[in-house]
This record gives sequence, C-alpha cells and structure tokens, in this order.
Amino acid sequence: MSLFTKIINREIPAQIVFEDEKCLAFRDINPQAPTHILLIPKKEIASLNELTEQDAGLMGHLMIVIPKIAKQEGIDERGYRVAINTNAHAGQTVPHIHLHILGGRPMQWPPG
Ligand code: AMP
Repeated sequence: MSLFTKIINREIPAQIVFEDEKCLAFRDINPQAPTHILLIPKKEIASLNELTEQDAGLMGHLMIVIPKIAKQEGIDERGYRVAINTNAHAGQTVPHIHLHILGGRPMQWPPG
C-alpha cells in the first residue's frame, strides 16, 4: 500500500483540501510554493507509465478538478503550475500518481 493510499484511508494525517469518489487533494508536507497541493487518484497507479486506456476517464477527471482547487485556493487568475514527476530522473519519490499544483508566486521556466 502506498503512502498516499494510507492518506486516503486516513491512516496517516494530511491537510485535505478536496475529495470526491475518484480523487483526493491535500497539502504537500514540504511546500515548494505558498500553495503546494498534491492531487491523487484514489486508484493506486504507480506512475504515468502504468496508465492504461481504462484510466482515461479517471485522468480526465483529475484535469477537471485542478481548476476547481486552483479557484478554491485563490490562485486561478494569477496562475499556477501542474507537474507530474515520473520515475528517477524526474525525482518521483512516491509510487502513486500525484499532480503537484503549485502557485502563489511566479514560477521559473524551465524547471530545474
Ligand atoms: P514526488 O517527488 O514528485 O514523488 O513528490 C512527492 C511529494 O510528496 C513531495 O513533494 C513530498 O513533500 C510529498 N509528501 C511526502 N510525504 C507526504 C505526506 N505524508 N503528506 C504530504 N505530502 C507528502
């Protein structure tokens, strides 16, 4: 069971900001911006590499939830970044797909 599945199951505490039947969003424990939220599917999928066609609706749903969270956090108009790290070179540390939603400050491009 992944660390994030334990958060879904309330076995590990987290500051939850959004939840529905398919996904959960909570504040990153080590925020890299004034707003740093992780949005995860409740289905435990290790990384983007493990997605199948059956997950298309689920991943589309996550896309629709992002702007709802951004609006709730008050970062929708000034802007925000969404990142999905995949495997070692991208620095993925938790094998459960998670979308980083970062905002509240200007972002640099390209990211490091
Ligand atoms: P990544 O490096 O893309 O795999 O991102 C994993 C993220 O999970 C990091 O930004 C961590 O700070 C965050 N994280 C790890 N453990 C927790 C936790 N218990 N609650 C909230 N965020 C966490």
